Formats: sequence, C-alpha cells, structure tokens
Amino acid sequence: GQVAFITGGGSGIGFRIAEIFMRHGCRTVVASRNLQRVSEASKKLVAATGQQCLPLSVDVRQPQTIVAAVDEALKEFKRIDILINGAAGNFLCPASALSFNAFKTVIDIDTIGTFNTSKVLFEKYFRDHGGVIVNITATLSYRGQALQVHAGTAKAAIDAMTRHLAVEWGPHNIRVNSLAPGPITGTEGYRRLGGRFAEAASQFDMIPLQRAGNKTEIAHSTLYLASCLSSYVTGTTLVVDGGSWLTSANNFPAMLGIASSSAK
Ligand code: NAP
Repeated sequence: GQVAFITGGGSGIGFRIAEIFMRHGCRTVVASRNLQRVSEASKKLVAATGQQCLPLSVDVRQPQTIVAAVDEALKEFKRIDILINGAAGNFLCPASALSFNAFKTVIDIDTIGTFNTSKVLFEKYFRDHGGVIVNITATLSYRGQALQVHAGTAKAAIDAMTRHLAVEWGPHNIRVNSLAPGPITGTEGYRRLGGRFAEAASQFDMIPLQRAGNKTEIAHSTLYLASCLSSYVTGTTLVVDGGSWLTSANNFPAMLGIASSSAK
C-alpha cells in the first residue's frame, strides 16, 4: 500500500527495485530523462505485477523538473513513502584524461541530483509525513578504485550526505541510508565497467563469494532498507557486494585495457 519514487527506475538496478517493490504491494513512480524508456518500463512492470506504476520524465540536475514530477505523483497517488535515488552516470576514465566537464557532469547527476531530489521530496511531503530515503552508491572510493575518481568521489559525497540528512531529518521520522552494490550482472554499469572482462579473466575468484551479484539481490536489500524491517536503521551504508571491495584487485593496467576496449 505504500508508494515509492524511484529515479533511474526505467533500467538496470532501478527497474528491478521497482519490480520487487511492486511484487510486495507497493505502487511506484519510475523517473528519468527519457520518457519513452520509463513509459516502456512502466508497461512491463504493470504487466508483470498488476500494481500501478507512473512513468515520469525528470532530469535530477534540474530541480524544477523534480518539483513537477513530485506534484504529478502526489496528484496521482496522494502519498509518497519511499524515495530511491538511483539515477547516475558512469564510465571508466583515468583522471589525467578526464575533462573538467566530465568530472562535473558525474557530480551533477549523482551527488547534486541526489540532494535535489531528496530536498524536493522533503519539502513536498516527507517533512510533514515522514519517509524513507535509500541512496544507491558504490564502494569505489573505499580503496580508490582506478579510473573511477569521478564516480568514486560523487558516491562518497552521497554517503556523507546520507549521514547529514539522517541527523537533520531523523526528528521528522525520515530514515536515510545508502546501499552500495558491488559488480551486478545484467546492468549498464557492469557492461561499462568491465564485468565480463573480469569474469573471463577469473577476477571473480578474488571475490569472497566467488561471483558477481544480480539485480534481484540488490532489490531485496533495498527492500529491507525501505521497509519497516529496518525501522531503527538510519545514517548507514549497507554494502551488498559479496565481500568484493575487501579483496578485489585494483589493477590499473588491466582497467586501462577494459577502458580502451570498451571505447572502441
Ligand atoms: P543504468 O541502467 O544506466 O541506470 C542509471 C539510470 O539513471 C538510467 O535509468 C538513466 O535513465 C538514469 N539517469 C541518468 N542521468 C539522469 C538524470 N540526469 N536525471 C534522471 N535520471 C538519470 O545503470 P545501473 O548499472 O543499473 O546502475 C544503477 C545504480 O546503481 C547507479 O546509481 C549506479 O551508480 C549504481 N551501481 C551500479 C553497479 C553495477 O554493477 N551496475 C555497481 C555499483 C553501483 P535516463 O537515461 O532515461 O535518464
């Protein structure tokens, strides 16, 4: 009976989060820039689950588009209980080759986009009704992952934001947590960041659980953070990576090989 607003809900991990939430009786809003993408996703989600799903166009870098989408969602559903900040952009690139604009764009989408969307939801609904925010981050900054200074910095800032907002908004009965996935098969992130290469090169032997994760595993952990099962959990980051960041190689030459082959 709850309603979840999911940025990046039209593809990959965000889509599977929407699907799993809907299978648990939640109605959803799937929001991203490409209206056709979220509209098609919404049709599939409704057909698979029988729940309602509203597709909306937002660019998380532009607060006015978020305001319009949240207004529309509240008109349709009269409530929003959960915000999943999943919208992000990423690619492999050494810092020396990264343009000023490329770095800024990733910060704009990931970090500032997460703040913009959280603030709009706070002002429009959560301040008076409480709510739950789950920010999808990453483990990239934990060991300074090669070729990922832009995304690692952006996601680390979101983890910091998670703690700040948990402290400030806790008294409004708003819980704020991050979920940091490891390598997740069947996603754009996996394709761009060299997951198949890692698989072929037996890099997954380095992961304690010896494999990549899947989208359903991320969705189930997000469901935990969004549901009352985690009612006393706030200001934390749940790492869902099979133990990957603890042991995986941070191999600069191998990553450069992936970056140049994926650019071809
Ligand atoms: P994905 O399918 O590319 O998802 C990213 C989504 O963000 C897309 O639906 C995209 O839709 C949306 N988006 C991008 N820019 C936007 C903007 N300015 N405004 C609104 N929406 C925007 O990638 P994914 O691999 O499933 O990743 C999902 C999340 O998990 C991301 O936060 C990612 O950093 C995180 N993550 C993924 C992995 C992995 O292995 N895949 C690992 C660690 C963390 P539009 O193009 O329509 O806007």
